[in-house]
Amino acid sequence: MTLVVKIGGAPGNESGPLFEDLAHRSDYVLVHGGSAEVDRLGSELGRPSEYYTSPSGVVSRRSDPPHLEVVVLALAGKVQTELVAGLAQHGVPAIGLSGVDGSLLLARRKEGARAVRDGRVFHLHDERAGALERVNGNLLRVLLAAHFAPVVGPPALTPDGEIVNVDADRVAARIAIDLGAPDLVFLTNVPGLLRDPIDPGSRVGRIVRSEFEGAMALARGRMRKKLVAVREALDGGVRRVCLASSQGPRPVERALGGEGTVFE
Ligand code: ADP
Repeated sequence: MTLVVKIGGAPGNESGPLFEDLAHRSDYVLVHGGSAEVDRLGSELGRPSEYYTSPSGVVSRRSDPPHLEVVVLALAGKVQTELVAGLAQHGVPAIGLSGVDGSLLLARRKEGARAVRDGRVFHLHDERAGALERVNGNLLRVLLAAHFAPVVGPPALTPDGEIVNVDADRVAARIAIDLGAPDLVFLTNVPGLLRDPIDPGSRVGRIVRSEFEGAMALARGRMRKKLVAVREALDGGVRRVCLASSQGPRPVERALGGEGTVFE
């Protein structure tokens, strides 16, 4: 059974232990984000990241054409290439694919994004943000059958061939659903879902479906988006989602062993 692992891209994530861990496994897809690298590269290129808040309070990365260009350079150009090279150093034949390659991730461009600033609502006409609609799982199955490890990240492609940014956590959820993966592992920069986000000792060990609303109430900022992806995965038939730290040896093994937060 295929395993889907998503490695976070916020500051504090480590990929070294993950490479070693994955070298002991076969039949997995690695999904990545890379927000810290997008921020770093954007600043270096004189296009610092911008975020906006929707009327419903969700914070999103600005993805107008100049910022989307930085996303593509950082994610498909750097983060993904380095993950593939890191796996190669551990003897793993990996193949990097953005959602554009082979139309792997098909998305609809979100129209009419709205932002709130100083109490005023305004439209963002030039956003290139996408809502993921379909995963071309056949491409992944072909690569897995040939014993390659696919490494997948944003951006995605619209049916018209436009490049759009999509949320990497949702990408991981949709790939897990499409491949019928029983387990999905999110490796991140915290030990799991925390009752108090600044107290690593306040980890919640296990959350069942009836407790999901309570879990959502604990999450702030980007963790809220991650929990939306967790719920999407469970709703789509994934049996178990493990959220755990990317730091320290054998992070996948430990996440599957229940060291982080297990959602069932
Ligand atoms: P990554 O890129 O590693 O996937 P994200 O930035 O998407 O990481 O999400 C992890 C972040 O979510 C943490 O660094 C933390 O600041 C934030 N967070 C908010 N609420 C919580 C919570 N209740 N428990 C754990 N982390 C939380």
